[in-house]
Amino acid sequence: MNLDVNTLFQVTVYVEAILGLLLLFAWAQNMAVRAVAWWGFAHLIRASSIVLFGLYGSAPDIVTIDLANALLFTAFAVTWTGARVFDGRPVEPVYLVTGAVLWLLVCRLPVLTGAVEARALIASAIITSYTWLTAWEFWRGRKEQLVSRWPAVFMLFAHGALFLLRTPLVALLPFSMTTDKMFNSVWMTVLSFEALLFTISIAFILLAMAKERTELRHRTAAMIDPLTGIANRRAFLEDAADLAKRHGSDPRPAAVMLIDLDHFKSINDRFGHAVGDRVLKIFTAAASESMRSSDLFGRIGGEEFAAVLHDTRSGEAIAIAQRIRETFAYVACEVDGRPVAATVSIGLVHCDGPVLDIAELLSQADQALYFAKENGRNRVEVASLDLVLGHGGAEAATEAGASPNARTAAA
Ligand code: GH3
Ligand code: MG
Ligand code: MG
Repeated sequence: MNLDVNTLFQVTVYVEAILGLLLLFAWAQNMAVRAVAWWGFAHLIRASSIVLFGLYGSAPDIVTIDLANALLFTAFAVTWTGARVFDGRPVEPVYLVTGAVLWLLVCRLPVLTGAVEARALIASAIITSYTWLTAWEFWRGRKEQLVSRWPAVFMLFAHGALFLLRTPLVALLPFSMTTDKMFNSVWMTVLSFEALLFTISIAFILLAMAKERTELRHRTAAMIDPLTGIANRRAFLEDAADLAKRHGSDPRPAAVMLIDLDHFKSINDRFGHAVGDRVLKIFTAAASESMRSSDLFGRIGGEEFAAVLHDTRSGEAIAIAQRIRETFAYVACEVDGRPVAATVSIGLVHCDGPVLDIAELLSQADQALYFAKENGRNRVEVASLDLVLGHGGAEAATEAGASPNARTAAA
């Protein structure tokens, strides 16, 4: 394949400029991800630096080499800054210009004026540093699980490595820095082509990252209860439906709990809504601590919560419900120095069968919860097997229902 370096240069300028504008356009549409604007400017700066490189021979070297390189390094530094901004880290103005300033100072050193290879090595080292720093920033932010983070880390690492190897590789081949030979050398073609491919891929990967982040945040916002940080009703029911599907192929004993705070309206009335909110958070923390991370737990209404304890025997489930009730009563006795004495009532139903019918189990748990309220609150009631099978009513639940002081405690 024959590729003319001059053509590649021109194509690269156009591509860089278009990608820069594309990223800025994407940012204008969703300004929430500010990093996209940084990345857009990085491409535009790189486009201008390549324009200057292209003037080599027809403009003074200070413009086509010194300034062009300074701009090129700034472009990589701006991409790096975008990666920091993307993961919520501050802009570092000093390091942003360090590469360019260092380069301009180096160009002034008489000892390096004619040392083409040494200068090329310094230039490569600066680009590699910024590129690897960008990869490092994305790697550091890997807790946020974006699939597109990984190709970004890989591309940046590989591009940085290639730049670093550039000088030793060039030394291996017959290569002269005279204008004609430089522009016609195999290496210039390969490197220019790689730079073009890299810039296209990284622009789209960065765009994909920004898009994925926005979608992830929307999805999370739609699924998480903002006050307590746990699953909301929709997410809880979706997760429970998934669990029910898995249960079909690998049935395990499970329990469903419905939990309702006692006299919560009165707590709000006596201590204010803010204290009410604190109580909801305290309950969430207490309940989460009493369950395993694999259990499903969600806020399904104002002061109503639900849980599915999978792979849990009946006795264990009752013990967990009691632990939640007791722990909460203890920690919510006093809230912000006020004698709130909040408690919960819990309706529990156990399922040993091959089918986990979440809607049916929630309905049974709701009836058990009703009896817990009827029987004085701050207690756990267990729906009986009769009730689970759909024959029972108040009696069945009361019969099998266990209060904290009576049957449940003994179970
Ligand atoms: P019971 O023991 O029978 O469950 O009585 P209750 O007062 O808890 O029940 P009720 O359904 O009458 O009241 C629920 C209250 O929960 C009413 C509502 O204002 C309050 N609530 C719902 N969501 C929130 C919230 O996010 N924050 C606060 N502070 N209160 C809330
Ligand atoms: Mg209530
Ligand atoms: Mg309620």
